[in-house]
Amino acid sequence: MLNSPATKYQPFPTVIKTKRHWPTQVLNKPPRWCSTDLRDGNQALANPMDGASKAEYFQCLIEIGFKEIEVAFPAASDTDYSFVRYLIEQNKIPENVTIQVITQARPELINTTMTSLLGVKKAIVHVYNATAPAFREQVFQMSQKEVIELAIAATTQIKEFCLQHPETHWTLEYSPETFCMTELAFSVEICRAVMDVWKPNAQYPLILNLPATVEVNTPNVYADQIEYMIETLQPSEHTCISVHPHNDRGTGVAAAELAQLAGASRVEGCLFGNGERTGNVDLVTLAMNLYTQGIHPNLNFSNMSKVVSMAEKMTALPVHPRHPYAGELVFTAFSGSHQDAIKKGFQWRKEHESELWNVPYLPLDPKDIGCSYEAVIRVNSQSGKSGASWILQQNHGLILPRYLQQDFSHHIQKHTDSHGKEISMAEIWSLFREQYGLKIKPKLSLSNFTFDAESGTIKANLLQDERQISLLGHGKGLISAWINALTQLFDGEITVLHYDEHSLGHSTDSQAVAYVGCQFNQSEVFYGVAIEKDISKAALQAILNSLITVYPQLSYQ
Ligand SMILES: [Zn+2]
Repeated sequence: MLNSPATKYQPFPTVIKTKRHWPTQVLNKPPRWCSTDLRDGNQALANPMDGASKAEYFQCLIEIGFKEIEVAFPAASDTDYSFVRYLIEQNKIPENVTIQVITQARPELINTTMTSLLGVKKAIVHVYNATAPAFREQVFQMSQKEVIELAIAATTQIKEFCLQHPETHWTLEYSPETFCMTELAFSVEICRAVMDVWKPNAQYPLILNLPATVEVNTPNVYADQIEYMIETLQPSEHTCISVHPHNDRGTGVAAAELAQLAGASRVEGCLFGNGERTGNVDLVTLAMNLYTQGIHPNLNFSNMSKVVSMAEKMTALPVHPRHPYAGELVFTAFSGSHQDAIKKGFQWRKEHESELWNVPYLPLDPKDIGCSYEAVIRVNSQSGKSGASWILQQNHGLILPRYLQQDFSHHIQKHTDSHGKEISMAEIWSLFREQYGLKIKPKLSLSNFTFDAESGTIKANLLQDERQISLLGHGKGLISAWINALTQLFDGEITVLHYDEHSLGHSTDSQAVAYVGCQFNQSEVFYGVAIEKDISKAALQAILNSLITVYPQLSYQ
């Protein structure tokens, strides 16, 4: 890189404007969306889609709810031409959907393009020519006057064809390509020239599309440009101002949003921002940005993962794991403080029966786009005690008391530190069971017991491997009687420091879980958990399970 980049790169000029209206506007409705996945997106692929893939993609776009779809560049390839014919001849275009095709402003290409549309009920013919100085001078060696004449000739040719085919409802879309790099006065002049020829009305509407073909300025400058065009052109209701932002500076979404504040009412783009170089503006993010402001975008991403899979299959481009709203990791919290806040947020929601979404760290309820809460919290070495206990609560209904959360987090930490990676839900559950004696066949299990409350006597039968053990104990209550009975087994003093229990589920035959922390010989504290149908049995078994590590000290002969 240069030490003084100013010798090579110049800042893009701002728009001289004394009054701006867009900064005080609010986005309160969705734009007219136009998906250009099948044309703009497709032409940027290493392996462009074949007809069958385009047909599948088209169907998916319709299911999402797109009403305007740029389907092809018919004069560019046989595949594209045939695809347009296929849609028309096979009756694949729903009543409420308008297909759009693009062409350069050249007579023979326009002719092929218009022919491809014969018999369609309605269509948008999108014609463009490059208007920016670099293109006029370097690429086409044309004067401003010649560039305008080209646009006029193209519009005239299209209009003549349309008048000869009144069975179709035609809309013209004109793009001064490279609009954002074109002198504003010249953009106004060429758009006016097109409007004068087309004479937009209800039968023949016009779309003036103002592309950031290459994004060269900050979104506020783009918004100024759009506002300037609208103020100067004063378009009637039959002329729609459309934008087509690219993402070269990484601000395509912001540019599209500010352009709408500035008065644009239509946005062209692609799913997940596919397109040349850094891509077209991402329509998924734009739509979901509206949704999270409480505005339905008129596009449906209730099954986001299906849309992701489809797009990935068709484009062979992966959707980034951190892609807004759609990436695999965008609802996932690894860090302990985030997990803790999310967990408390969900709890708060439940307690307050709140409809409004305000869970910390989550801008959107994952359920709204078809995601489960499972992926919200994942556990690695960065996670605190909340993460693992959340997963146990979500998947197994266990509400760990604080002392157990703390103890278990040490075991998780040890595991993630030694394995150096994320611990899966299944691994967390298996570690928990291992640690607190929740085995299918415990080393020492309580087969049955009776407790006589009056005399405080417990009689219990245990099973150690295949061996039957019978115990007798006395105490004021069940637990103290049980501790007394266990002194026959364990060579030391047992003190129950912590005890908690709750039922799992609401039905009468649901199980109960007991959590205990027992001190052995007034030194270390051991924790145990047990799940049983009967809560008393769970309590007694949990105490047995807590002592699992002192089994070698069993004194029973
Ligand atoms: Zn584009």
